[in-house]
Amino acid sequence: RTVYLNGDYLSEEDAKISIFDRSFLMADGVYEVTSVLGGKLIDFAGHATRLERSLSELGMQKPEAFDDLLEIHRELVRLNEIDEGMIYLQVSRGSAGDRDFAYPSDDVKPTLVLFTQSKPGLADNPAAKVGIKIISIEDQRWGRRDIKTTQLLYPSMGKMMAKAAGCDDAWMVEDGNVTEGTSNNAYIVKGNTIITRHLGNEILHGITRAAVLRFAKEAQMKVEERSFSIEEAQGADEAFITSASTFVMPVVEVDGAAIGTGKPGNIAARLREIYLDESRKAAI
Ligand code: PLP
Repeated sequence: RTVYLNGDYLSEEDAKISIFDRSFLMADGVYEVTSVLGGKLIDFAGHATRLERSLSELGMQKPEAFDDLLEIHRELVRLNEIDEGMIYLQVSRGSAGDRDFAYPSDDVKPTLVLFTQSKPGLADNPAAKVGIKIISIEDQRWGRRDIKTTQLLYPSMGKMMAKAAGCDDAWMVEDGNVTEGTSNNAYIVKGNTIITRHLGNEILHGITRAAVLRFAKEAQMKVEERSFSIEEAQGADEAFITSASTFVMPVVEVDGAAIGTGKPGNIAARLREIYLDESRKAAI
């Protein structure tokens, strides 16, 4: 696989960064994951805009190549012959050659890394036909979940807890309400109304979320951006998650209780179809 590191396209074995890199020592880094369908990037502009916001919220320099990000994405897709899959991008505050809690001076340049993950069949994921099972766990992450940082230990623990319980993922709960999934936004459906938590510092502002809510409104569905509890989810007609890598994925069970009929719901299935169709059309 060919990867990108600070201006160079290298084979993955040759791409090396410092042990003092602040992403490694302090999780002082931000990232984006953009999906690729038919060799094209889905919602690149959304991901680039959110990256810029994450960097600015943390006072992190833009990597030199920021303006060329689209070109770098495209070149990696080409070099690795990706038809369906993902591109991972990470910016770290870089390495000052030692360990220090204080940020390094501005002459320390950020580290920019990108790599591709080929996932043939991503859009035809069979899980979308059967739906996924969710457990709830307490949300123990830090308070700035709107910034897409590389601090992913708690979400990793959540996935492991879900796996141990024979489930696929976890929804995190804070003050009695669902914040989001470990790596996705969470939704319930009641009748023709789609309910998902309002934006704030408590959740990541999903790029897929923004697109799906727009498509839902265009399809005359109602959208309520508000908190909901696990109990409300268990009594809902449908549930689903969204993310760049799962698109729209139906949820059929929450903490052992079947949602609706226990099968993927019509609205989730329809939104998945619309999302995939429209995203392919707009892909660049
Ligand atoms: N919420 C969290 C915590 C995430 O990690 C992610 C994606 O990785 C999402 C939501 C979904 O965001 P997006 O639709 O931009 O992939």
